[in-house]
Amino acid sequence: MPAMTPKTRAAIALAERWGAHNYHPLPVVITRAKGVFVWDVDGRRYYDFLSAYSALNQGHNHPAIVAAAKRQLGRVALTSRAFHNDRLGPYLSKLCRLARQDMALPMNSGAEAVETAIKAMRLWGYRTKRIPAGRAKIVVCENNFHGRTTTIVGFSSDPGSRDGFGPATPGFVAVPYGDLRALARALGPETAGFLVEPIQGEAGVILPPPGYLKAARELCARRRVLFCADEIQTGLGRTGALFACGREKVVPDLYVLGKALSGGLYPVSALVGRREVLGLFTPGTHGSTFGGSPLASAIADAALDVIVRERLPQRSARLGARFLARLKTLKHSRLIDVRGRGLMLALEFSVPVRPLVVDLMRRGLLAKDTHENTIRFAPPLVITERQLDDAFARIAAAVAAFRA
Ligand SMILES: *Cc1c(COP(=O)(O)O)cnc(C)c1O
Repeated sequence: MPAMTPKTRAAIALAERWGAHNYHPLPVVITRAKGVFVWDVDGRRYYDFLSAYSALNQGHNHPAIVAAAKRQLGRVALTSRAFHNDRLGPYLSKLCRLARQDMALPMNSGAEAVETAIKAMRLWGYRTKRIPAGRAKIVVCENNFHGRTTTIVGFSSDPGSRDGFGPATPGFVAVPYGDLRALARALGPETAGFLVEPIQGEAGVILPPPGYLKAARELCARRRVLFCADEIQTGLGRTGALFACGREKVVPDLYVLGKALSGGLYPVSALVGRREVLGLFTPGTHGSTFGGSPLASAIADAALDVIVRERLPQRSARLGARFLARLKTLKHSRLIDVRGRGLMLALEFSVPVRPLVVDLMRRGLLAKDTHENTIRFAPPLVITERQLDDAFARIAAAVAAFRA
């Protein structure tokens, strides 16, 4: 551990005393941020290479999104969906046009949007596919991460996420990620949907074999199973395309979106998809007090504009390819893989990387270990080439100094 200053120590002690310990944060206390940088309580500056798990694709406090939020705060923040508000329609039409989908259902957190997707797939399964009542199955992948609700952790293969929170909700079947034959075997007359991350982020930036998504999508269509892509982390430019599915020319029946949908200013998520599915919801069958609020809608509308106007998917593709090539020049006896797509990149070692993460923090770069041996690099997509070069120099120095 680096020596902590009194300010840092006091801030951490207070939060640890009063907050449940469901995270193991790096010992840095952030007090302000702008673009790709954050500053700690002692005035030290860091590159943010986590981007709040890709909620900050547009960078911290993007001025256009902050301005939209402030404008809306001066008007109305919350109406509930018991009344209409004048911001929801413009936002949802923009979102659907960008995603080339028919309809959207606004929620708040990513996990809530995944829950919405599960309900939508089951509803379609019963109403349209005519699966007998109570028998609908959803196929998921091993090592998935879809959030933290009781239903979602019940189909997680990570003991830390799942154990102690049972009984698990029934109706889920897990298959190995990237395995088409296993998927083909799992799909049956009672399968309503297949829920998949186009790249598994929390599992350590795991890329499926080339062609997997396309073949899985076609298989689902043939077997009359909904294909639902959880693009909460991979979507909105992160992997060098607006959606990671787009890189394989895959159009899912349903997208689950969140995180960067608000550029980090507010919890905003949505299920976006075909009318044949989302059109099955009727008044009273689903809802959210805050989902689709005027404030959330104004923020998300502006956050989408930034992605398009600043060509963040194209930027991510170009800068990501360059950064990946540079990461591939790193040499270390314990480095076993360098991978990623766009600006969603990872180094995998054969040993735990926490010491490397702490050293990078000392060198002014915040990144996070995932599953012990992997370190993920996911800076805001607004990062410049010069900043990436500077960040790379810090990473190269830390890797060279890493004694496993
Ligand atoms: C972060 C994430 C979620 C959950 O989002 P929350 O906003 O934390 O509930 C779900 N799926 C994926 C792929 C994620 O990365």
